[in-house]
Amino acid sequence: MGLLAKLVNKLSSAGQAPRQPGVEVAKDAVWVYIKCDKCGEKLALRLRKSSEIQREEAGRGYQMFINKTVIGNQCFNRMHLRLEFDGAYRVVNKQLQAGTFITKEEYENSAS
Ligand SMILES: [Zn+2]
Repeated sequence: MGLLAKLVNKLSSAGQAPRQPGVEVAKDAVWVYIKCDKCGEKLALRLRKSSEIQREEAGRGYQMFINKTVIGNQCFNRMHLRLEFDGAYRVVNKQLQAGTFITKEEYENSAS
């Protein structure tokens, strides 16, 4: 029973929130970790759910989205971020132009 219970546990916890490297959904905000393709600067963006997320009534496969242009501190490269969420704030699609998604660990390792 031990092995089966462990397996079921693993499956159910993995199925709840598909892992999206670079995007961490917190209680009232969404954190996005990205790297500028031009100068390599790493950025952590905090997007408030209450003000940044827009509803999409007729969305195909998503119900909320964020469109944002991001400019870092080190250069003027404009990164275009788009995130799409389902009704439970789970990311179902993400795009970034002129930048790259990185993991939270990558960001924190470089910040010090
Ligand atoms: Zn840059």
